[in-house]
Amino acid sequence: GQCILVCPTAALREKSHSKEVINAIKDKSKFVIAQVAPAVRASIGEEYNLPLGTNATGQLVTGLKRLGFKKVFDTNFAADLTIIEEATELISRVKNNSDLPMFTSCCPGWVKYIEQNRPHLLNHVSTCKSPHEMEGAVLKTYYAKKMGIDPKDIFVVSIMPCTVKKYESDRPELSENHLQDVDAVLTTRELVRMFKMFGIDFNDLPEDNFDNPLGESTGAAAIFGTSGGVMEAALRTAYEKLSNKELDNLDFQQVRGLQGIKSASIPINGIEINIAVVNGIGNVSPILDEIEKGESKYHFIEVMACPGGCINGGGQPIHQKPEKVKKRVQALYEIDSKMKNRKSHENESVKKLYKEFLGEPNGHIAHEILHTHYINRKNILNNN
Ligand code: SF4
Repeated sequence: GQCILVCPTAALREKSHSKEVINAIKDKSKFVIAQVAPAVRASIGEEYNLPLGTNATGQLVTGLKRLGFKKVFDTNFAADLTIIEEATELISRVKNNSDLPMFTSCCPGWVKYIEQNRPHLLNHVSTCKSPHEMEGAVLKTYYAKKMGIDPKDIFVVSIMPCTVKKYESDRPELSENHLQDVDAVLTTRELVRMFKMFGIDFNDLPEDNFDNPLGESTGAAAIFGTSGGVMEAALRTAYEKLSNKELDNLDFQQVRGLQGIKSASIPINGIEINIAVVNGIGNVSPILDEIEKGESKYHFIEVMACPGGCINGGGQPIHQKPEKVKKRVQALYEIDSKMKNRKSHENESVKKLYKEFLGEPNGHIAHEILHTHYINRKNILNNN
């Protein structure tokens, strides 16, 4: 039967896409692709009694291949792409002093909140699609063309920590040529159930690597899964692009941790860039009030609806202790610290994507494929 999940943050009731995914895998005419969010690899091991904070990427890739996915890509590739687009957007807003502060747009729980509650502030939200939507859009355009596959035959499944991503993937504005960027979303818990259903013993799986070219990523992308991570990733790129200097210290400790609001001033090329990170939707109101009154000093604000960020999302293994969230967060910072490349603009596959297909960041094709728009949902009764 179909399973109903309840999202603790946005009070959304969502049904499982498991049946659609299984049907697509059985359908020989479909090229079924999985992509995996950063937060999933740091938590799925908890369902299999692995030590807290285990990075289970290798087994995840093998498990998904055994389920029948033709390719397994990393949503982190598109997190790097998001950062290039978002940092470019931020720099141009700062230079033109327009629509500041800019908000991040990768959390659909937050986007839905502002559409419903303060639609008059929607011009402050970055127009960047969220990473898994960007990944889907690139798969159905660039990748389809490169591989000679009809985009209609590509079925993209996102493995996400989040129940709200299901609603997001259904938004008509997140599509190319009337094809949804993402066809189905499975949460971490749903994937675990599917592994069980198919008799896949996760603990016994050998490790494998993501497929390429949409599998390469940097440390900046890994930390997207935790509160402050998108901000830190964006700062690493915005700093170097604005100043043409290399950053000495990549760790922005000011935006790490589990406080409700984190803020800092970062001097970049003679300008003090004021930033804030809102950790949990319950903390966003005062920040929005300040903007309404014209009193906000910020240039850039990250908002994640779930306290702790996606690592603690509504589709993750249920945890009873805060230590679990901390260990998951640690796992992501560890992935970042061990990476050879830790800045999104160092991702070679992303650079190639711009060269072969997209052109300039925020350019015409990038706008067409990687950006979106929002809707005033204040007076829409059925808010879906
Ligand atoms: Fe989903 Fe992450 Fe936003 Fe939570 S913080 S609603 S898991 S995108």
